[in-house]
Amino acid sequence: MSRGILVTGGATGIGLAVARHFAAAGDEVVITGRRPGPLETAAKETGARAVVCDHTDPEALLRLLPELPGTLDVLVNNAGGQTDFDAPGGEDLADYARDFRANLDANLLSAALTTRAVSDRLADGGAVIHIGSIAADKGSGSYGAAKAGLASWNIDLAKQFGGRGVTANVVSPGYIADTEFFRDFLTDERRDALIAATAVGRPGVPDDIAGAVAFLASPAARNITAQVINVNGGEVSTR
Ligand code: NDP
Repeated sequence: MSRGILVTGGATGIGLAVARHFAAAGDEVVITGRRPGPLETAAKETGARAVVCDHTDPEALLRLLPELPGTLDVLVNNAGGQTDFDAPGGEDLADYARDFRANLDANLLSAALTTRAVSDRLADGGAVIHIGSIAADKGSGSYGAAKAGLASWNIDLAKQFGGRGVTANVVSPGYIADTEFFRDFLTDERRDALIAATAVGRPGVPDDIAGAVAFLASPAARNITAQVINVNGGEVSTR
């Protein structure tokens, strides 16, 4: 049976791989992002419906609602990224506050606002999956703090949704190649170091994350909730 799916930031990288997966399974997929160009390309490739939306903007989210399937079986809060790459910087405390808030908005508030906006139309037995980051465990300024906050906030969300059989989890990637995440900011040395820090000796790819998302959305995962699933090739271990 076709499911209703929303993948935020679904035009590129991890979100595109997730959208491809669900679209190939015959689901009704909506992808979002701020740039129409990549959205159009991704929509053509996957058959997903593309809607321009900035997930940090409550008004934009209200405009998104009529474009979504009446019932959402799966919400993937994937939109985000390291906003420090584009931050103007500056010496003032106000500059620091602006740049710090940008990461909180992009990676934490975006997921909270989106989930809140669609919560009434999440199907009983559905799944909410956020894309976190290894930065929550390793530290990475306000970006890591935002992703750590996402995991903490998710615990409460899982309790809130539990009675409806809706699960809420975080998939936490390590370094994933073939995305727009790093733009021109990843040197060869840094890339080699990230790969060398894994147990598997290779970078992650978007399909690695799509696989974990697909599992969490599947019937096999209905008792998994309030968790962080690490997909990092062993770069950060758990007991
Ligand atoms: P990309 O930059 O390729 O994808 C991010 C997508 O999110 C883009 O399509 C972007 O489109 C969209 N986006 C960003 N901000 C917003 C917003 N406010 N509203 C709507 N869409 C938005 O990188 P990834 O695929 O790697 O990133 C996906 C997620 O994975 C992010 O949350 C990132 O933090 C996380 N992650 C990535 C890692 C990596 O190594 N690549 C490692 C760990 C976590 P547009 O700019 O057009 O809005």
